[in-house]
This record gives sequence, structure tokens and C-alpha cells, in this order.
Amino acid sequence: MFQKDTIAAIATGMTNAGIGIIRVSGTEAIEVVDRMFRAKNPSKTIQDTPSYSALFGNICDGDSVLDEAICLVMRGPNSYTTEDVVEIQCHGGIVMLQKILELVIRSGARAAEPGEFTKRAFLGGRIDITQAESVMDMIHAKNELAARSSATQLQGKLSVKIKELRRMILEHIAYIESALDDPENYSLDGYSEGLSVQVTDTIQSVNALLATADEGKMIKEGIRTVILGKPNAGKSSLLNQLLGEERAIVTEVAGTTRDTLEEDAVIQGIPLRIIDTAGIHETVDIVEKIGVDKAKNSVKDADLILYVVDAARPLDADDKQIMSLLKDEKVITILNKIDMEQVVDKECITCEIQTPVVEISAKTGDGLQDLCECLKNLFFHGKLTMNDEVYITNLRHKQALMETRESLERVLDSIEQQMPEDFLTIDLMAAYEQLGYILGEALGDDLANEIFSKFCMGK
Ligand code: GDP
Repeated sequence: MFQKDTIAAIATGMTNAGIGIIRVSGTEAIEVVDRMFRAKNPSKTIQDTPSYSALFGNICDGDSVLDEAICLVMRGPNSYTTEDVVEIQCHGGIVMLQKILELVIRSGARAAEPGEFTKRAFLGGRIDITQAESVMDMIHAKNELAARSSATQLQGKLSVKIKELRRMILEHIAYIESALDDPENYSLDGYSEGLSVQVTDTIQSVNALLATADEGKMIKEGIRTVILGKPNAGKSSLLNQLLGEERAIVTEVAGTTRDTLEEDAVIQGIPLRIIDTAGIHETVDIVEKIGVDKAKNSVKDADLILYVVDAARPLDADDKQIMSLLKDEKVITILNKIDMEQVVDKECITCEIQTPVVEISAKTGDGLQDLCECLKNLFFHGKLTMNDEVYITNLRHKQALMETRESLERVLDSIEQQMPEDFLTIDLMAAYEQLGYILGEALGDDLANEIFSKFCMGK
């Protein structure tokens, strides 16, 4: 699985920029770059350059100089990949970067696969798979919370927790196996009571991690939010306020726009993924035309419904129809247009539907602060401070934890039914392996390839 050939890729974004970096990693990284780089000081080479030092010179294709560059040398094992790495920092034009990459490849490297640098860091034992995944999450983070959550994972905090759980499980497996082999020196009398307590504790720890998964998903992807309300209630105006830009088209004629939107918004640090399954202007129309079932489905898929009520017009049949869809859902009712004369107030709404009500003006932005507070209370226990807490943001981790919990519950069942001890070790071993799977142990080639293929080029 561990390839040592020398790989290269453009590590910076594919857009014209001041500086671009080509990363070269592998046993021949230093020789490859020496073949195409001439230092300004002709007596110097990459080969002689100490680790974590830079050399200034020209990238040369034969006699022709392609660009000026600085080469940064990082020798293995103290590098990102654990191999020898040279980063060529040159000017950031895409055309030139591609020409230089071609030259690096002609000089003996191979074009890297997406994520291959991080894969090598993993295969080289520098990081485990949760850390590798966090690198990808950090690159793709859409908001500060997601970036911070991946930084916590990159520091290995999830791995520490998982390893601690595994250590405890392994100790029990080892003891039971020893006792079965050598009953004279190891006694299993009364052992299962102690085991039962510890397994229960471990299940609680697994549950605590799993409990972060919903929040973790919302941090990573945003709270899936659907905006509902009768035509002209101010849904598009609210969307624009949330996005802070004129994206949805606001119109004074009810239901004239067919605009499909799915937008990421971050309001005061709260990430929202706003889903407009139907055309935000036409909620009632959609309920009628496509049918209540479909409308219900779009509501079911959402983490949150923002139900916009026009405070300047009495509640009517359209409102009633929408409200009938919203029972049992997580809803915030937005009483909009409070800058106008109000004919609907909070009491009118709470008579009809039991949800938090926030008064805003989507026109002026008044009341948005209250909406933020309401969101924090509903989704983040009223606070949005991440104190390096570990969040489960990855579906693979969540599934492995759920399987771990099942195995541990089987251990408890077996204890209760006074099954022989070797039964216990089978399920303990399964839990141990499922936790190991999170760390990337016994990870099949296919899965490793799948994980790393989702990375971007040059990482
Ligand atoms: P939608 O059909 O629910 O998407 O409603 P729009 O966002 O298109 O708004 C309909 C009309 O109401 C537009 O003329 C908006 O300018 C106006 N409007 C929306 N929100 C407010 C508000 O808070 N105050 C006032 N005065 N007008 C608003």
C-alpha cells in the first residue's frame, strides 16, 4: 500500500494569484527539483540545503528560464508526508504553474492523485485517519465553527478519546483470555459485575460522542432550513437579509418568480443551509399544485422551518394551511413587517401554533438579533462557543460508534444471561475493532482510496 515514488501537484488554488506552490514529495523529491532548478548562487543546490531552509533561484527548462522561485526543503520524516518534500514557490499564474508542474514531471516525478500527500502522511504514521479527514474538513469548512471543529480533530482529540475507550476494552479482553488459558492464576469469579459497570460507562461515553453528531452535522453542513409563508409575507426579503445580499428576487406581485435556491448563510456565526425546494415566493401555490405530501417531505428533511407571517395582513386560509404542515416540526415563526402597522401580533400566533415567535422587519433588518438568539437556543444550547469540544462530524465515525454501542450492548446481554466468558470476548473484540476502524486500523484499500479521493489536488 505504501508507495515511495515521487509525486507532485499544484498545492495552491487554480486561480491567478500572487504566489503559487508546487509540492513535490518522495524519495527523489530533492533530486527531481535539483534537475530543474538553478540557485542564484551557483555553488548551492537543493541537495545541500538543510531541512526547513529555502533556496532562491530560477526554474529552468534546459536553457530557458521559466520563472524565479524559492524552494523550501523539508526532509523526511519531519515533513507533512514524512518523506522528503520540496515546495516550489513561484508566481501564481495558472499557465506558468502548469508548465512548471509538467517540467517537474518530466524531471522524474509523477502527478499526484487527489489527497495523495495526506494519504502518505497517514501511511507514514504521522497522522491517523481521523486527522487526515479533518484536514479535508478544514479545507472545505464553510464557516468558522466547522473550521474550529476540524482543527480540534486535527490535534487528535477525537483519536485520544477513541484510544482511551479501546484501551479499557482491550484490558478486559486480555484478562478474560488469560483467565481462560490460565485459570489457576487468573480468576473470573465475580469478574462480570465489574465488567458490566465498565461496559455501561463505555456505552455512556459512546452515547455522549454520538449525541454531538447532530450538532456536528449542522456545524459542518449548516442547519437545513426551509422558509415557508404565504405569498408576499416577505420570505425572499428574509432570505436576502440572511444572505446579506440580493440573491432571491424580491417582487411585489405575489408568486411571479420561480427561483430555486439552496444557499449557505452564516449569521453571527450560525451556519444555515437554506433550502428552497419549491420557489420561495410560492409556498401556498406549491402546497396546492404539487400536493401536501411533497410539501410535507420538504418540511421533514429540514432541521428548521422559518415560518414567515405577514404582520400587516390578517392570518388567512393560506396561513392555516401552512400551519397544518408544521405540527411536530422544529419551527420558528417569524412575525415580519413589524415596521408597518400590525394586525397580527404574537398572541394571535401562539393561539394557533406553539412555536417560538420572533418579530422582525425583513426590510430594515430589525429583530435579526432576536432570531440569532432564538437559533442559538434551539440548536446550540444557547451558546456558540466551542471550547475544543470534540464533535462527530463524519458519517463514517458515527456509524462505527453506533456499531460499537451495539456490540457493547450485546456484552451486557451476555453478562445478564450468564453466557460463558468467551462469548463476552467476541463482542468486546468487535467493539474494539469498530473503534479501531475510526482510527483507520484495518482500513481496506478501497475505503482508504475512497476517503482520500475526496480530497482536492495537492493536499
Ligand atoms: P415573498 O413572496 O414571501 O417572498 O415576499 P417578498 O420578500 O417578495 O416581499 C413581498 C413584499 O413585501 C415586497 O414588496 C417587500 O419589499 C415587502 N416586504 C418584505 N418584508 C418587509 C418588511 O419587513 N417590511 C415592509 N414594510 N415590507 C416588507
